[in-house]
Amino acid sequence: MSDKKRILAIHAHPDDSEIFAGGTLALLAQRGHALTLVTMAPGDCGTDEYDAEEISRIRREEARQAAVLIGAEYICAEFRDLAIFNDDASRRRVVEILRRVRPDIILTSAPVDYLCDHESTSVLVRDACFCASAPNYATRAENPAAALKAIPHLYLMDPAGGTDRDGNTVHPQFVVDVESVFQTKWDMLACHASQRNWLIRQHGMDDYMETMRAWSSARGKLAGLVYGEGFRQYRGHPYPQTPLLQELLGTEVVRL
Ligand SMILES: [Zn+2]
Repeated sequence: MSDKKRILAIHAHPDDSEIFAGGTLALLAQRGHALTLVTMAPGDCGTDEYDAEEISRIRREEARQAAVLIGAEYICAEFRDLAIFNDDASRRRVVEILRRVRPDIILTSAPVDYLCDHESTSVLVRDACFCASAPNYATRAENPAAALKAIPHLYLMDPAGGTDRDGNTVHPQFVVDVESVFQTKWDMLACHASQRNWLIRQHGMDDYMETMRAWSSARGKLAGLVYGEGFRQYRGHPYPQTPLLQELLGTEVVRL
């Protein structure tokens, strides 16, 4: 078996994977693993300056540029903002993406987070991992890809701010030390230039980039690091339990 793995980061919107896992993805890219970044939606509601079609075009391009910085491929699943639901058609669409990318490891959103799209993405990806290896589960796509040989290793990123909807801390199982690649994470997030004005208005974030720095710093502090990203491995039966991602990252991982 090759020691190079295929890793899929799949989150709801352009900029989410960069914020919650950009440093970890940069470390994996440095080690020569193949990376694909998927956003469920193109970020079509994240603006008060452009119509949905125009902002989608801008944000897909920003996401592609961020992916290019770590040599990753970018795919938009073409759901729409605030319209990602855990239903039959959506699950089949996500399974088809998994079967095309054929990842060994998947990083996805937190199951409890501040935004409905983040939560529905998490449950869709979790269940698509199971379905993707069932040969009789048909995606109904044109030229469908073959079923996966096994369920991929599944990991959950942190929720925004590292807390649930009640403000309680969500404890990661391990934190990845991203200090050495923090500049790359910063540069990836900076590709999402269209988000700065929107986040000032909708989220009261006066500096999007500094908010990411503060979150990375807070996660790092849990493990005695300067900057960190937290993850939990999904451990439900019969998903793989071996610490594949932790092994790929080696000494960059601090188990809590
Ligand atoms: Zn999001």
